[in-house]
Amino acid sequence: MEKQQNLGSEYYSLGRDEILDRISKRKAELADNLLILCHHYQQQDLFQFADLTGDSLKLSREAAKISDREFLIFCGVHFMAEAADILAAEHQKVLLPHLHAGCPMADMATTGAVEQAYKELLSVGIMQNEKDLVPVTYVNSSAAIKAFVGDREGSVCTSSNGEKVLDWAINKGEKVFFFPDEHLGRNSATALGIPDEQVLLWRRGELLGGHSVEALKQAQILLWDGYCEVHMRFLPEHIHQWKIKEPEINIIVHPECPQDVVSIADQYGSTEAIIAAVAQSKPGSKWAIGTEINLVERLAREHPDKEIHLLAPTTCQCTTMDCNQPVYLLWLLDNLVAGKVKNQISVAPEIAASAAKSLEQMLAIS
Ligand code: SF4
Repeated sequence: MEKQQNLGSEYYSLGRDEILDRISKRKAELADNLLILCHHYQQQDLFQFADLTGDSLKLSREAAKISDREFLIFCGVHFMAEAADILAAEHQKVLLPHLHAGCPMADMATTGAVEQAYKELLSVGIMQNEKDLVPVTYVNSSAAIKAFVGDREGSVCTSSNGEKVLDWAINKGEKVFFFPDEHLGRNSATALGIPDEQVLLWRRGELLGGHSVEALKQAQILLWDGYCEVHMRFLPEHIHQWKIKEPEINIIVHPECPQDVVSIADQYGSTEAIIAAVAQSKPGSKWAIGTEINLVERLAREHPDKEIHLLAPTTCQCTTMDCNQPVYLLWLLDNLVAGKVKNQISVAPEIAASAAKSLEQMLAIS
């Protein structure tokens, strides 16, 4: 896989309209063999070219069903492209417009750090064997972490089914280790009625995650201390301000938001749940939404009969996903037309096989 994207000077002088026009033409030329997938958080200039839109797992599963298309361009981030590659047919190739489009939250849980945590827990007798600690990973994680979880008979979860998967894991083993998002884990545990004192935050870089052996023995759920910097920007004060200004407004937030935000919102849910809630609401209804700005702005455009705002006064944008600028999509398409495959994301077969087990486990639970 190439590490750099040397676009060439001819691309840097192109204006927006010319780039979009050339993407349209290239897409038409490649139509029979190409599928463009776009995550909800992607900017509109890319989103308009999408053949499929959705959240990460929905996109990967839908794309895998369209097996007559060889090239799947995933306008999203690295872990999403990996998931698409795991689920895709053997002849399909998954491409990412820009290789720097990663997810900082997914990068917060490396296999080295997770393996070290397991070793420490085993060494002090928190568990007799690894199977007593059931790992659950949010789909926003690397293929390597999904493989680690699959090899230990754990499961992936999404922001739609976090509670269901966590409930399954609690009933399966003595303890659960949830990666990498503290907040989805905590919000799911709270929804299941698990007392706060049973839920411990594992702090990376600290021996035993910063806890005593006794505290770890008492805990039912360990949460990795990862977070989404986009959803961390929403604060309880934002909700208070909206409720003072617009008492009738509906506040809906994503479960990657901290618990003090989720607990006072009117509703919380995945991107798909947020989209559905707004779509099903009455004309004239008002919404303040705690998720990525591109999705909120798209909802406002698609529902001119409703009043839709970002919950925070500041922009909350996934800047890594925004690395996928239209010019990189054009460059990728130009190369495909020239017979060159760039920016392919491929997961090693042994990692893919183990990661697939954790994805299949989730489907079995759901
Ligand atoms: S919005 Fe947050 S969790 Fe989603 S891809 Fe961006 S950084 Fe990762």
